[in-house]
Amino acid sequence: ATMPPLLSAIANAGRHGVLVKSAVVMERLGQVDAVALDKTGTLTEGTPRVTEIRPLAGAGLTEDELLALAAAAEHPSEHPLARAVLDAARGRGLAIATAEDFRSAPGIGVTATVDGRAVAVGAPARLLGGVAADAVGAHAAALAEELEAGGRTAVLVEADGVPVGLLGIADRLRPDAAVTVAALGSLAGTAPLLLTGDNPRAAARLAAEVGITDVRAGLLPQDKVAAVQQQERAGRKVLVIGDGVNDAPALAAAHTGIAMGRAGSDLALETADAVIVRDELATVPAVVALSRRARSFVV
Ligand code: ADP
Ligand code: MG
Repeated sequence: ATMPPLLSAIANAGRHGVLVKSAVVMERLGQVDAVALDKTGTLTEGTPRVTEIRPLAGAGLTEDELLALAAAAEHPSEHPLARAVLDAARGRGLAIATAEDFRSAPGIGVTATVDGRAVAVGAPARLLGGVAADAVGAHAAALAEELEAGGRTAVLVEADGVPVGLLGIADRLRPDAAVTVAALGSLAGTAPLLLTGDNPRAAARLAAEVGITDVRAGLLPQDKVAAVQQQERAGRKVLVIGDGVNDAPALAAAHTGIAMGRAGSDLALETADAVIVRDELATVPAVVALSRRARSFVV
């Protein structure tokens, strides 16, 4: 017997390296008319590296001590930034203490107790709040801005509520990011959106490189959901592509959600309707096109 078009499309998508979880999803993929992409780990390779280590004067930490403290707190995290911090610490041969009371706040950072100190590692804007309360906070905020102006993700390290230093982290754009954005934009017929928890400066820089003009930065997971719902209220069927725990709610809220498989979080993989197994972003427009062809057979 010949396979029904949607089933052969699923098999075909599999050959492209995209796992489509059901025939219903295969059909819905072709209906999307708006696209929202996450930045870190989705448009970027998701293998970021620590490029700057800046202890704050007065905190009394060396570069190695700052990095080791951050690495201890990040150790249990599966976030790409956490892996970057750990790789840098291991690269310098640093001993990494065991953290207790680890907690992660998606889109913000992590907290843990390290050698009796309450350590927080995360987004400077979130940890410092709207206004820098004192001279140390103001200095930390200025240093964060300097790193971000260079396209870095700035990560603040605090010990017992006091900023002790910053790390600059850089990630490479995926080689197929720009072509994928262009292809998805023309398939959807609307300009793709960038939804990111990262800072507005780094987000704007990357968006310009891939040809995205609609950029929403500094978003928490629920803000990503709100951005998707706003589009859907306007009658759009939104395709969301993401990788993180912070993307899971938006992947669930989307008309169709696709997760990056190689480095994606388990939660994103479970929540998404389809998974990019082979780590090539450019397979997404190919699979949307497959869906449209299969659907043209459905009467
Ligand atoms: P994106 O939406 O670009 O994938 P996330 O929402 O995962 O980014 O993270 C947003 C921001 O929150 C990061 O840029 C970083 O500043 C901070 N953050 C989140 N998790 C961590 C972590 N484990 N360590 C350090 N910073 C983190
Ligand atoms: Mg991400």
